[in-house]
Order: sequence, then structure tokens, then C-alpha cells
Amino acid sequence: MRAIVAGLISLIALACGQSKQDKNLEPAIEAQDEIVLPHPIQLDTSIIDTVSVKGALEQRLIDAGLVDLQMAIPGILVDLRYSTSNNFFGKDVYGELDKAYIQPVVAEMLKKAQLALEQQNPSLTFLVFDGVRPQSVQQILWDELDKPEKVKPLYVADPKKGSLHNFGVAVDLTIADRSSGKPLDMGTDFDFFGYPAYPDREAQMLKEGKINLQQIDNRELLREVMKEAGFKGIGSEWWHFNAFSRKIASEKFEIVK
Ligand SMILES: [Zn+2]
Repeated sequence: MRAIVAGLISLIALACGQSKQDKNLEPAIEAQDEIVLPHPIQLDTSIIDTVSVKGALEQRLIDAGLVDLQMAIPGILVDLRYSTSNNFFGKDVYGELDKAYIQPVVAEMLKKAQLALEQQNPSLTFLVFDGVRPQSVQQILWDELDKPEKVKPLYVADPKKGSLHNFGVAVDLTIADRSSGKPLDMGTDFDFFGYPAYPDREAQMLKEGKINLQQIDNRELLREVMKEAGFKGIGSEWWHFNAFSRKIASEKFEIVK
């Protein structure tokens, strides 16, 4: 204990610009056995965060063999929107989980897409909104959705059928400026429900003035690099990409509960 306290004192002395030779400092404090700081020292709480115990949900994802995208792909940005109130529910459904997890093979594919994007423009990177979405969270989204049962599947995949997000093989993402983190203009926000977000309706939306050519170009860049890495988009959400078909996903992977 004394050695730790003495070590800490030396560090504080150094931080305060005092010489290590200041022999009066050490014995005086050792005698009191308490540290009197000359001025308030700001604790670096990020150290505490990194050593904190992982939340139960995150541990389940790790136990299911999934990987943290930001660990797997250097430079990728994550804004897990369901872990904030900035989503179409206006509610945080992920709790303390704020990292995007995914199947390792999908992370490898996304890494390829990221390299393809960097080759096109080194100042750009991906900004991920969602990766794996456990079935338990899918159920919460379903239950919380304030829409008639019949139209619910238009907004959220039925948890009984599951979504490719539940297998950890789908990703929701956009392109952002690497240094500012600012997303490119894709015409709508993530989780915008309506034709302006539909890749299938781009020609019509352009004609109606709901989206512009620059926004379509930005989406095409996203589609191009994702396709190059083997992902497939869907007709109703510009941000959603599948790494595998439902058939292959259910053969190769388990649904994450
Ligand atoms: Zn999605």
C-alpha cells in the first residue's frame, strides 16, 4: 500500500512540476497516510470505462461469437441509433450496449467494402447505425410500435419470422466524412419510412423533386462498394444491406436471442 501511495505521490509531484528531489513531500504524506492534493486533479474516467464489466446484452453477443465492428475495422464509425432516443421510436432499446456487433465473416466482408470506399475517396468512411439486433430487442420494437398489427411488418420485421439482423448478418449504414464524422446527404435519415428512402423509387422521387441527383450519387457510391464486397441491398431502405440470403443465414448461423 505504502509503495502504491509513494508511487502516486511521485506521479502527482511530477504532474505538478515538482522535482523528484523534493524530499520533504514523501515522508510528510506517508506520516499522515493520506494524500492532500495541491490542487484538484481531473480523473481520467475513460480508464474506468474500459475496465468496467460488460453489460449482460454485450456479453451475450460475445458469447454468441459476434465481434465488435470497431475492433474489427479500424476507422469505421458507429452511431448505434437504437441505443439512443434518436430513432423512430424515440426510445433507447439497447440500454448500455452502444457498440455494433456482427458475425465475424460479415465483419471481414465489411472490411473489404471499407477498403473499396477508401480507394474511391480516402476522406470517407462508413458510419454504422445497426448490426446484430437480438430477437429480444426485435420483440421490444414490435411490441412498442404504435401501429395496427397488419401494417407493423412495413416498419419492423416480425420477431416470430426474424430479420437478418437477428442472425448478425445484416448491417445498416451510411457514408461519412472520416475526420468530421458528418454523414453524406442520402436524401432521408436512417429509418425514414416512405418512398424517398426506397432505392426502388429513386427515379420517381427524383422526378417528383423529393430527392436530388447528388443524393442518388451518394447512395450509389454506398451500393457500389457494398456490392463489391458481396452485400445485397433491399428495395425499401437505402441504408440496409444483407451479407447472406435468409436461407443461407439460417443454415449457417443461429438467431441471437
Ligand atoms: Zn436494417
